[in-house]
Amino acid sequence: MSKLHIVSLPGDGIGPEVTTAAMHVLGAVAKRFGHELTVEEHLVGWCAYEKTGTPLPDATLEACRRGPAVFLGAVGDPRAEGLLPGKRPEAALLKLRSELGCFANLRPARVDEELVDMSALKREIASGCDMVIVRELTGGLYYGTPRFKEADRAVNTLVYTRAEVERVAKVAFELARSRRKKLTSVDKANVLEVSQLWHAVVDDVAKSYPDVAVDHMYADRAAMELVTAPKRFDVILTENLFGDILSDEASAMCGSLGLLASASVGGKVGLYEPVHGSAPDIAGKGIANPIAAIRSAALMLGYSFGLHAEAVAVERGVSKALADGLRTADVAGGGPRVSTREFANAVAEAVTK
Ligand code: NAD
Repeated sequence: MSKLHIVSLPGDGIGPEVTTAAMHVLGAVAKRFGHELTVEEHLVGWCAYEKTGTPLPDATLEACRRGPAVFLGAVGDPRAEGLLPGKRPEAALLKLRSELGCFANLRPARVDEELVDMSALKREIASGCDMVIVRELTGGLYYGTPRFKEADRAVNTLVYTRAEVERVAKVAFELARSRRKKLTSVDKANVLEVSQLWHAVVDDVAKSYPDVAVDHMYADRAAMELVTAPKRFDVILTENLFGDILSDEASAMCGSLGLLASASVGGKVGLYEPVHGSAPDIAGKGIANPIAAIRSAALMLGYSFGLHAEAVAVERGVSKALADGLRTADVAGGGPRVSTREFANAVAEAVTK
């Protein structure tokens, strides 16, 4: 029996709805596999700002630092539009990621066979796609200094050190080893010195993973192949800016934002969150797709608790619910639809069987 202690930050909009769904499924996992689940809930985002004057209260940050695993629903509210940048709900996310030292962001992008017709790509291109993008999250252009803006000139700086590339590359190689053993490192080594270092360090790390096949690809070509030949990819490893863009591109092939999970790992505490935002347009209606949140919980089971059989059980539960024809509105097309709660109940039931 394991103790599963989770810091839950439901946040805003559909955040609480999909978090409830994910926690319900985790409850079923705990029951089936005999674990002790405790969930400690805290405020984040607009709801935190409304109650405390800050989107990331100290009590929330302290609880997250204790970990070992943080689950975040979503943040964001139209009422926050006029706030100063540091007070906006999204500021909480950026601070949380950097405070927790999560330097590797994992974004699986897999096309569910049942939903292949929802993909932005043609059926024959999308069918069978299954990749994970590993994005470096705490370095590169988004953090480099100097950075400033003058009237007619602006500067950002792209810096990576060998140590920064090594640690994220190891995460990606380990992941590739547990999958189809293929890693594509994406850079712009034809024009950027930083990318030349990136390329060389990845080759060095690769020596410790002789069972993983490595290739290098320029970012522009990767952007093209993601929509023309996505099945060629297994694990994509890339830096912060390219990863930001390519992971959103890859997600378009899956069919709905409501399907995409993420894990940010590397520090002592892992942060797990659906890729989507607070979706104010559908909040409170009970129709949000909980799959992204449930899959984020599955990533948490594997990465933070080493419970791989449990993670597989959750993934199978989602597949079973989809195979049984259950669809929330975003992926229902013109067909019948179920609520967030009904979908989560079906997954939980499949997990306990
Ligand atoms: P969004 O992801 O909230 O919504 C985009 C569209 O996708 C909407 O039509 C929404 O209804 C739909 N959608 C999203 N998740 C869904 C789900 N689970 N099921 C069904 N449909 C879903 O993006 P947005 O509208 O650009 O942003 C809304 C707010 O969320 C903003 O305040 C933004 O800053 C914030 N945001 C937060 C995060 C986060 O918390 N990680 C990420 C992105 C955006």
